[in-house]
Amino acid sequence: MKGRENLAISKENPFKLVSENANLALHALSKHAQDRSKMAMVYESVSGSRQVFSFFEIEQFSNKIANLLQNLGSGKGDRIFTLLNRTPELYATIPAVLKLGAAIAVLFPDFGSEAIRQRLEDAGARILITDSANLEKVRPLCGSLPTLEHILVIGENREKTVAGVQFHNFDKLLKNASNRFESAIVSEDDTCFLIYTSGTTGLPKGVVHRHAIRERLTETAQSVLQLEKSDFYWCTADPGWVTGLNYGIFAPWLLGMPILVYEGEFDAHKWLDILERNQVTCLYTTPTLLRLMRNEIGDISQKRDFALTRIFSAGEPLNTEVISWAERVFDAPIYDNYWQTETGSQIIANRPNVPVRRGSMGKAVEGVQVAIIDEKGKIVPSGVVGDIAIRPTLNSLFKGYWNFPEATRACFRAGWYITRDRGKLDENGYFWFVARNDDVITCEAQRIGPFEVENALLSHPAVAESAAIGVADVVTTEHVKAFIVLRKGYEATEKLAKEIANHVLAQLSPLATPKEIEFVSDLPKTKSGKIQRDQLRRKGSFDNEKVFIIE
Ligand code: AMP
Repeated sequence: MKGRENLAISKENPFKLVSENANLALHALSKHAQDRSKMAMVYESVSGSRQVFSFFEIEQFSNKIANLLQNLGSGKGDRIFTLLNRTPELYATIPAVLKLGAAIAVLFPDFGSEAIRQRLEDAGARILITDSANLEKVRPLCGSLPTLEHILVIGENREKTVAGVQFHNFDKLLKNASNRFESAIVSEDDTCFLIYTSGTTGLPKGVVHRHAIRERLTETAQSVLQLEKSDFYWCTADPGWVTGLNYGIFAPWLLGMPILVYEGEFDAHKWLDILERNQVTCLYTTPTLLRLMRNEIGDISQKRDFALTRIFSAGEPLNTEVISWAERVFDAPIYDNYWQTETGSQIIANRPNVPVRRGSMGKAVEGVQVAIIDEKGKIVPSGVVGDIAIRPTLNSLFKGYWNFPEATRACFRAGWYITRDRGKLDENGYFWFVARNDDVITCEAQRIGPFEVENALLSHPAVAESAAIGVADVVTTEHVKAFIVLRKGYEATEKLAKEIANHVLAQLSPLATPKEIEFVSDLPKTKSGKIQRDQLRRKGSFDNEKVFIIE
């Protein structure tokens, strides 16, 4: 394959791979496929089947997909969408699209029609790859999306053309496609991913990433995850979220490491079996899923034979209570790390060999200049809360939001990229998360981060999940309201509400103590599991009978 012979390790910087072709698929897949037996993926389906794929097999599979897409006229500059479960087809389609020089946009498979329509329309998508289970959601979109030309369906499909959109049988096209494909030559600056993110607020924006991202993904796989040959790695995130794409696939593949993929949704007991059966050594997951697991299984009584040596968590603040639980149950350290879809790679992280300060996100990752700055872009003294910002020289930083230059410009100030998160830095170089900008609670001119309140709430034995928001208050500007999901066996009573409030008061301060507690059965969350505090603010209350005012 052309391009391979140009690969070399730069002498000045051993991390930096230099090549005439920056195509991420070449570096993450084709390069490793030269060794035909090298394992790339262990795949477990919902029905319990288990398959092992080598890099060579995925390379050939993705070459076929690249050919069939090319035959439909697709190539450099296109945006190609998938709406698929975590199946081998998805994991082969992603590099296939990159091989064409096009950008891949992965949608969560349980998105509804409107969420799919918004994203395809915004991106001007020509091609969507999905499966027969999604046909009902996809068919009504035809006719309302002028750029959409082809829908490829895995599994049964009786459609031919609907309102000008051609439907194809993916499996049939695949049979006739060649397994040889020459990856398009791209530059570091060419687009590889279009990742739609709504964060916890606002309409979805398409985050555009470049092939240059491979440098930071390679470096952080080594310096943060510290993946080694002896590891078996499982990132539980769906590739519809940046973590599942960048660290679920590319970071380990760039190092030639195999990944574990489980098709199914979260199920605490199944997960324990998967961890044990596969002897996973390194797990990457989210605080929400760890919290759910804690509620479901408590402290496991039956002795399990886990091989975990470390767990990484990202996407939300990691509560100290959850850290203690996970360390007890898995007998492995748990490392929080912080980054965003826009930064493309981890920028602050706890990691092996750097002493952990519980509750802190850790130190800046090597090669990234992270700071806490004020409104003018000046670095604030340690201990002072400000905006978490990075210098935009980072190779994994997004190119911008698709079709949204004003929103892109608004992310930069005085030579910094602003994350829109608030945090502080201590004198030892550890970063502490305070809140997403919009989530900060202002009470008697003090700014309270929901994380510290939620952290205190979660340390009460009755609390399974919690979210703190600010509610308008004529006296104090805002006061804290807490939404609480109780653990099994606890009842929503006024007595319990008061007990929980007192528990927070004993740990924090009167201002940070909830003046209202509402017991709920669930919290609104994004697809990647982040609590949507903006929805709680908008809604105010779900059930008045479950709201308790704390005097
Ligand atoms: P996303 O781009 O969807 O991954 O969301 C990124 C946002 O998630 C960040 O801007 C933070 O608000 C939040 N986030 C990610 N990691 C952490 C973390 N370790 N601690 C606290 N918040 C986090």
